[in-house]
This record gives sequence, structure tokens and C-alpha cells, in this order.
Amino acid sequence: MSIESRNPATEELVESFDPLTDSAVDTALDRSVKAHGELKALSYQDRADMLHAVADRLDRDADALGRILTEEMGKTHSSAIAEVQKCALVCRHYAQHAAQYLQDRHIKTDASKSYVRYLPIGPVLAVMPWNFPFWQVFRFAAPALMAGNTGLLKHASNVPRSAMAIEKLFKEGGFMEGAFTTLLVGASQVEAILKDDRIKAATLTGSEGAGTSVAATAGKYIKKTVLELGGSDAFIVMPSANLDDAVSAAVTGRTMNNGQSCIAAKRFIVHEAIYNDFRDAFVERFESLKVGNPMDESTDIGPLALADIRSELDDQVKETLSKGATRLTGARPVSGTGYFYEPGILEDIPASAPAHGEELFGPVASLFRVPDLKSATDLANSSRFGLGSAIFTNEPSDIDHAVTELDAGSTFVNAIVASDPRLPFGGIKASGYGRELSEEGIREFTNAKTVSIK
Ligand code: NAP
Repeated sequence: MSIESRNPATEELVESFDPLTDSAVDTALDRSVKAHGELKALSYQDRADMLHAVADRLDRDADALGRILTEEMGKTHSSAIAEVQKCALVCRHYAQHAAQYLQDRHIKTDASKSYVRYLPIGPVLAVMPWNFPFWQVFRFAAPALMAGNTGLLKHASNVPRSAMAIEKLFKEGGFMEGAFTTLLVGASQVEAILKDDRIKAATLTGSEGAGTSVAATAGKYIKKTVLELGGSDAFIVMPSANLDDAVSAAVTGRTMNNGQSCIAAKRFIVHEAIYNDFRDAFVERFESLKVGNPMDESTDIGPLALADIRSELDDQVKETLSKGATRLTGARPVSGTGYFYEPGILEDIPASAPAHGEELFGPVASLFRVPDLKSATDLANSSRFGLGSAIFTNEPSDIDHAVTELDAGSTFVNAIVASDPRLPFGGIKASGYGRELSEEGIREFTNAKTVSIK
């Protein structure tokens, strides 16, 4: 894929870039090693001061930075501004808490003193997706830099302007050259970079295919990885739920970020006692959503990010319909310029259909009717994925059952799944492994060194 920024609402090419040469990558790796030596010698306070400066710039320039995101991948400008502001939040969170998260952990043994010290490991390669072009990067970079590691970003090939803006923010915040570097390279260059001795670990957020490939190379060269992959999150609604709240959350959960979120609610599993009421309200709300120019404040859903993403989604919908599912509303490409897609809802979905088990990366909801909670959690767990999960209920025993039985990295009750710098984030099964954010996130790329003093 060529490295180019193309506006998905207008299909116009905004800017294109030549991939870095091998020798430019080599220079960047050398700089990253040098910067690691300098960064790890600084105190937490020094690193925090720089990260606070980055956060201040994110807040100050949120409108203009948000415009880059909207022009590159089509999210609404209001949601792009919110994404940039959330990045400021994660910077401030780690600026304030990194020292405490990484303080020595003392353990009583027969020695006079024994403890674990969390030390940085060096340059970490971050392979990132386009769907949250800033947030995915900052949730890696803020803890990595506070821990004393350096970061090298290989961003998705359709968001190079976001990638360059992020590198500039870290430089302007005071980080030394090489502390955070954007490498404008294609996916085919990742293997050579990852196997280079100077790279100590890798994190990848993206599809299963990319995750498998990066994990295989990292495994061969014995390098630690964190993988944040796809999801097909279940959203269970039980009879005791507040139906209005559940429907509102379902609409937001499925359509936020134009339906292109790993933790979007994708499979709506509804108890038969309230199924018809939920379905009718869900359809009505979907039909009232406004699809259009993502810069317009009244728009709910902008275009999908790429022509390929739209055709892949439409193929999954068509195959699901051909296998016997019913289309309740939408789920069709919008004709004309731009990669727009009508938000849609499908029901009566057979187990063999893509909308039953695969990830649909766009604003299309799969609706299922179940007789009881056990059937709901069994259906939820039938997916290969295990990222997030949600249940709407006011019955304590339902909550307990869902929390214990749902195979997922998180269960949210009466709320949609969302990431928060204070809470660990990650998945199980084909959704990946390892955790980002919170204390767990900052410790992933550290050497937990055991110290024992006789
Ligand atoms: P993608 O195609 O896997 O791309 C992600 C990144 O991996 C891009 O930088 C891409 O580079 C690179 N890449 C692709 N194939 C590669 C390979 N064989 N070796 C090395 N790098 C490779 O995913 P996407 O379409 O951008 O993002 C959508 C997917 O990401 C969805 O499945 C979504 O659920 C998942 N996601 C997961 C999370 C999470 O936290 N779990 C968050 C967001 C998104 P190029 O662009 O150059 O191909």
C-alpha cells in the first residue's frame, strides 16, 4: 500500500510520501538507541515535565490536529477533537503516576533486602492502525517514554500526516531527537526493522493477519510483544435493563468512529422477553442517524476510511444476506463520492454467516434473540475474539454470571466498553495478549529485575 493521505469524504489525494530508505531507517534506529541512553538517565520528574508540555500542546491545538484526523480517515471532527484531548489525558496520567507504578516492589525473603526494580528495555517498535490515529499511538507512547524506553512508530499507510504530527508534538514538548520517531515505511519493511538487534520489543494494534506476522518474527528473534487485535464484542440486554439506556448505548456503541472501533459493540444479544421492543427502537434510532460530511457538526457518521474497508464490509453483508439473514435497515453503500455506508441492522443470522462470527468493521449491527442468560453468554463466547463485552441488566445475579462467564478482556455493566488511562485494556483469544494503560500497561515493556541483597 502506498503511503498517502486521501480524504475519504472527497476521495481527493491530500499528500503522498516516499517510504524511508534502508539507510534512513538505520540512522533512525541509531538515534533511538542514543536517545534511550539519555532518556533513562533522566528523573521521572524530568520526563513528566516534557509529557505535560506535550499534553498542553494537544489541548491547545486540538481543533487543528483533529482536522488532520478527519481529513485522513473520515471520523467526525467533533470526535477527532475528543480523541486529541484524550491523548492529553493519557500523557498527564502517566506524567503523574509513572513513578508510583514503577516504584521498587519490596518482598520479604531470607535475604537482608529483596525487591523488584522496573527498568526500561530500549527502543520499542509500535505498529499502529488508522482508526484512532492519535489515541492508539499515545496510549503506547506516554507510558513507554515515562518508563525510559524510546518509541519508533510505523503507522498505517493511510495516516502519514497524523504520524508526522505526533512526532512533532513530542519534539516540541522537549523530548530529545530519537526519543519518539515516526518511520514512514510500508508493512513489508516491518520484518527487517523488527529483527534488528537495536529493537528490543514490539507492540501492534491492528488486524489478526498483521498481529500473526509481527508475533511470528518477534518470536523467532525472542522479542516481547503486546498485541491488540480485532474484536466482535457482545452486547447483552436482559429484561431488567432500562431499555432506553440500552438502546442509546447500543447505537453509540455500534456507530462511534463511523463503526470502525475494535471495542465497538458488534453482536447485540437480546433476551426474547424484550427483543421486539429493543429491535424496533434500535431500528428507529439507526434510521435517524445523519450520514455525511464529517466536518459538519450535525453529522453522526462520516465515511469509512478506505475504499477497501467499505467493499470488504459490503461483501460480508451480502454473504450474510445470501445465507438467509434479514436486513432490518440500511447496510448498503451510499452512491456518489466518498466511502459512505448506510448504518444497518441484520437479524436471523445463521452461524455460518460472516455477521455471526467475523468482525464487521463498519456501522452494521448483528442482532440475536436468546431465551436466557446462559444462552446469551454461550453465544457471546462462540466468537474467536475476546476483546470487550457489555451487559445491560439490573439483576445482581446476571452481573455476577456475566463477569465470571464472558470470555473477554473486559466486561462493562450498563455502559459501553471504553478505554480509560486508569484501567488496563486488552483482549484474550484472537483479540491478542498483553495489556495497555494503567499500571499493567507501563510494566509490559520493562525488565522486572529481581534484586536480592544477602
Ligand atoms: P491492519 O491492516 O492490520 O494494519 C495495522 C497496522 O499493521 C498498519 O500499520 C499496517 O501497515 C500494519 N501491517 C499490516 N500488515 C502487516 C504485516 N504483515 N506485517 C507488519 N505490519 C503489518 O489493521 P487496520 O485495518 O489498520 O485496523 C483495523 C483492525 O485493527 C481491526 O481488526 C481492529 O479491530 C483492530 N484494532 C484493534 C484495537 C485493539 O485495541 N485491540 C484497536 C484498534 C484497531 P499498512 O497500513 O502499511 O498496511
